[in-house]
Amino acid sequence: MKLYLDFEPCDECKTLIKELSESDLISDEQEKEEESAKFLRHLTYNHTEVVKAIIKDVPIQKKRQEFDWFK
Ligand SMILES: [Zn+2]
Repeated sequence: MKLYLDFEPCDECKTLIKELSESDLISDEQEKEEESAKFLRHLTYNHTEVVKAIIKDVPIQKKRQEFDWFK
């Protein structure tokens, strides 16, 4: 999962991002998913402005995909 977000990460974010980048080395898919889920949960509770930005971006990406589909 690659997410490029424009926001100020707090100390916990930095720890979680570090864990996430290290989890690329883990072959266990479930463990990777747990790391991602942990980070998203932290964003949901502590950085609502980031979550709002993600939700705002998602429909745009979906429209682009649908457009490609009909080409
Ligand atoms: Zn944070």
